[in-house]
Amino acid sequence: MKFATRLVNFPAAPKDPYRPSVTPIYQTATFERETMDASGEFDYSRSGNPTRTVAERQLASLENGTRAFCFSSGMAAISAVTGLLRSGDEILSDIDLYGGTCRLFSRVLNRSGIRANYADALDPEGFAQHLTPATKLIHIESPTNPLFHILDIQRLASVAHAHGALLSIDNSVMSPYLQNPLDMGADIVIHSGTKFLGGHHDVTCGAVIVKDERLAGQIRFISNAEGAALSPFDSFLLLRGLQTLKLRIDCQQRNAMAVAKWLAERKEVTQVFYPGLAADAAYQLHQRQASGPGSVMSFSTGSVALSKAIAESARLFHIAVSFGSVSSSISMPATMSHASVPPELLAKRDLPPDLLRVSVGVEDEEDLIADLGQAFERASRLASPATVTGV
Ligand SMILES: *Cc1c(COP(=O)(O)O)cnc(C)c1O
Repeated sequence: MKFATRLVNFPAAPKDPYRPSVTPIYQTATFERETMDASGEFDYSRSGNPTRTVAERQLASLENGTRAFCFSSGMAAISAVTGLLRSGDEILSDIDLYGGTCRLFSRVLNRSGIRANYADALDPEGFAQHLTPATKLIHIESPTNPLFHILDIQRLASVAHAHGALLSIDNSVMSPYLQNPLDMGADIVIHSGTKFLGGHHDVTCGAVIVKDERLAGQIRFISNAEGAALSPFDSFLLLRGLQTLKLRIDCQQRNAMAVAKWLAERKEVTQVFYPGLAADAAYQLHQRQASGPGSVMSFSTGSVALSKAIAESARLFHIAVSFGSVSSSISMPATMSHASVPPELLAKRDLPPDLLRVSVGVEDEEDLIADLGQAFERASRLASPATVTGV
C-alpha cells in the first residue's frame, strides 16, 4: 500500500469488541487480571496502553521500522535514547541542531558522566576525526535546524557502524512522509511529534522508532523505567493528526516553495536556507534522501532590527516557536528555539542573530505572500537606515 493509504487504513482498534472506526481513548491507568497468575496484554498504562500501542504500531510502520515508542515530548524521546549510554560514554553530534537537544546533551547528561562532542557533519571525514574510543552514539538532524544543512545519512551511518556506534537521527523537520532514515542505515529515528506528526499545535509528544529487536527491548525498558510514555488522550490526538500528514505536507510544501522563491527575490533578504531552492548546493543530496523539501526554512536579512520588525509586522505568520502546524509561524532561533544552546557552544556554531525561521502552513498561498509583502514594507519603514545597526 502507498503512504497515503497507510495513513488512514490501519488497525485502529484491534480486539475492541464494538469495532469502533476510530481508536478509542482508553483512559485507564490499570487493567484487571482474571487471576493472580494471568496478566493480560496490558497491565498498567505507564508500561502499555491500547491507545498508545495503536499510535506506536502506526509510527513503526510509517517509518519502515519494527517498533516505535511514544513519549510525552520530543525531548523525552531523545532523553530515552540517551538512556542507552552509561557514564564514560560519549555522543558525537553535528553542531547545527535543536537548542533543547544541546541543552540536554551538554547540561544534563554531563552530570552523569556522559560527554557530548560537536563537529560539523557536512564533511563526514572531518567529522569522523572527532570520534573517540568512548563514542557510542552519533546524533544528527537532516536537514539541520535552523541552517538546513543536508547531511549524508548513509555515509554517516557507515561512519558510526565502522566505529561500533549507533546513528540516531532526529527526523522532525521531514516527517516519515518525506524521509525514512532507517532505510538509509540509521539505527534510531526520533521525532518531536509536536511538529508535523500532530500537525495542529495541540499536542506535545515524541517518538523513537527502531528496526533492531534488541534495541527495541532496551528502549522499551527505559520508557517503562523512566515513565515518560505518552498519555492515552495525547496518543489519540497524535493518531488523529497523523491521518492528514500527507494532505497537510503536500499543501504546506507547495506554499513553502512559493514563499521561498518570493523571499529569494527580495532585496532585503541576504540568504534563504531551504532544501527546495535549486540553487542550494546540497539540493541533489537531499533529493536522493528525501521526497520533498518540507515547509520549514530560514532566511537572513543582515540586520537584527529589520528581522525583528518583519516578524512583528506579519499578521498571518504568528510569532511562535515550533513548526509543522497547519498555521504559519515565524521565529528568531537565536533568541527563541535555540536560546538554550550553552554559551561555550554558541561561540563555536554559526547561529546568525538576524536569522528568521518560518514554518509555512496550509493557508492560501496568495494571502501568505501578501502578508509577507506588507510585513517587509512596514518593517523597512520601521527599521529605517538610522535605526538599522546591523548585527
Ligand atoms: C521541537 C524539537 C524537539 C523537541 O521536541 P518537544 O516535543 O518540544 O520536546 C526536538 N528536535 C527537534 C528537531 C525539534 O524541532
